[in-house]
Amino acid sequence: MSKVQMKDGRLIVPDCVTIPYIEGDGVGAEITPVCQKIVNEAVRAAYGGKRSIEWMEVLAGGKAFAQTGEWLPQATLDVFREYLIGIKGPLTTPVGGGIRSLNVALRQTLDLYVCLRPVRWFKGVVSPLKEPQKVNMHIFRENTEDIYAGIEWEQGTPEAQKFYTFLHDEMGVSKVRFPETSSFGVKPVSAEGSKRLVRSAIRYALQHHQTSVTLVHKGNIMKFTEGGFKRWGYEVAEQEFPDQTFSMNQYNQIKKDLGEESANAALADAANTGKVIIKDCIADAFLQNTLLKPEEYAVIATLNLNGDYISDQLAAMVGGIGIAPGANINYATGHAIFEATHGTAPDIAGKNIVNPCSMLLSSVMMLEHLGWEEAATLITQALEKLFEAGEATNDLARFMPNGKPLGTMEFGQRVIDAL
Ligand code: NAD
Repeated sequence: MSKVQMKDGRLIVPDCVTIPYIEGDGVGAEITPVCQKIVNEAVRAAYGGKRSIEWMEVLAGGKAFAQTGEWLPQATLDVFREYLIGIKGPLTTPVGGGIRSLNVALRQTLDLYVCLRPVRWFKGVVSPLKEPQKVNMHIFRENTEDIYAGIEWEQGTPEAQKFYTFLHDEMGVSKVRFPETSSFGVKPVSAEGSKRLVRSAIRYALQHHQTSVTLVHKGNIMKFTEGGFKRWGYEVAEQEFPDQTFSMNQYNQIKKDLGEESANAALADAANTGKVIIKDCIADAFLQNTLLKPEEYAVIATLNLNGDYISDQLAAMVGGIGIAPGANINYATGHAIFEATHGTAPDIAGKNIVNPCSMLLSSVMMLEHLGWEEAATLITQALEKLFEAGEATNDLARFMPNGKPLGTMEFGQRVIDAL
């Protein structure tokens, strides 16, 4: 068993690497084996046997519950902790019981603070946009804070009443419109949490030659949480990457001191010399802009809830959730779990029609993360060829003028043929 290791901030990847995986519930049993076969073939084609992946199954979700009586066994968490890099299919959210969501539990246990979602368009895939080729964004969604921390109390409970009493009596809050019938939620957003997320986004932009990082927030309304995120984001750029970034804060300062012409010249100079431009945008305006001028955005750094909305909108702009990959990453410890971003799709499970591309493109992200770019590129290029020729699973093929709907397994074989 060869583990990925983290040494001096760098991943050390053995040539024969063990990757733990969760098959996933519902359609997971269909997409996971197809993706593993494609990845194995791509690695073989790229490295001629010099490199390989040894897949190691770990249990979670319905399969884990059936076999062990637990939805997320400790052994699974231990393996991910030890092996650093893993991949997972979709998991059923257990109804009732102590776990809100297995995905959230995994992210929180391993402190996977970045949810990375790259969004690009593949030629041939039908999009609601006129110019989908302009969409090429990388979303860094903060994964551990915000109202997703799950600190909330239900209306009518003693806890909600206690919380309100504290707010009213000790904090002098008199703005709650209907105190007797309110539920309450708490939105923690920290300097550390915001800074490590933005730091990761800036490093990624630098490594991947991206032109800008946009901090997306609702700081106009939530001044200390969302507004704090924006402020801390700019601070990270200016204090930690002064030679590699140029921020709109700096632009505004130059404009104030020397006039707009000088500020524009400084901005143009920064862009021309390869600096990453750090800007910000209010979340509602951002959602509009992604439709109207997507070419203005490259890397997006945002808080948890905004990131949730943004991820789905951008995915819909390039072909929907069947094709949107994702990863949950802690860049400090090296832990990363790549994942199908859609759910278990119970309505189509077992029919050999599910699109494996979310999981497959997540596998591509994983290969890139391991530094095995050649194998990743082979898969991406194979998908480009197939989509252009109208070969896809039915969810995509039915909208393509030249669409040829293929079953999940047949599509997987066509990807292998096209490697
Ligand atoms: P879903 O994503 O499973 O399905 C929504 C719709 O999209 C369905 O019509 C489905 O058929 C379709 N769809 C999804 N993936 C597809 C694919 N790859 N190819 C073609 N069509 C696809 O969402 P849901 O129905 O709201 O949730 C079902 C279960 O999955 C729930 O238990 C939910 O909690 C869980 N879930 C898990 C994850 C995850 O593990 N990351 C994410 C979302 C939902």
